[in-house]
Amino acid sequence: MTTKPDCIFCKITRGEIPSRKVYEDEDVFAFHDIQPVAPVHFLIVPKIHVENLYDTDMRHQALLGKILGMTGQLAREQGCQDGFRVIINNGKVGRQEVYHLHVHVIGDQVPLWGMGRR
Ligand code: AMP
Ligand code: ZN
Repeated sequence: MTTKPDCIFCKITRGEIPSRKVYEDEDVFAFHDIQPVAPVHFLIVPKIHVENLYDTDMRHQALLGKILGMTGQLAREQGCQDGFRVIINNGKVGRQEVYHLHVHVIGDQVPLWGMGRR
C-alpha cells in the first residue's frame, strides 16, 4: 500500500494526526471535516495516496466505486435523511486544498453551491 509520509490525510489514515472518525476499513477512512460548511460534513479518503482524479485510472475503478457507493449509507448514519451532496475538488481551478483525494459528503442545511465559504 502506498502512502506519502508528509501528507496530512495519509497521516490521519495512519492515526498519526487525530480525527473524528466516521468509518474505517482496509481501503478507506472517513472523518468529520475540521471546518464544516454544514451540520453534517465529513470526508471519505482512500488509504492509498492518490492526489486527485487526475491521478486515477481504470485500476482505481473498484476503489472509487466503493467510496461513492458507501456515501448514502454513511450520510444516513450521520443524520442526513432528506438528502446530501457529494463534492470532489480537483486541482487549483477545482479549489483543491489538500492533495490527497477526498470525497466531501455534506448534508443538512447544504450550502447553495460549492463549499459555501470561498
Ligand atoms: P479541499 O481540498 O478544498 O476539497 O478541502 C479540504 C478539506 O479538508 C477542507 O474542507 C478542510 O476543512 C479539511 N481539512 C483540512 N485539514 C483537516 C483535518 N486535519 N481534519 C479534518 N479535515 C481537514
Ligand atoms: Zn496522502
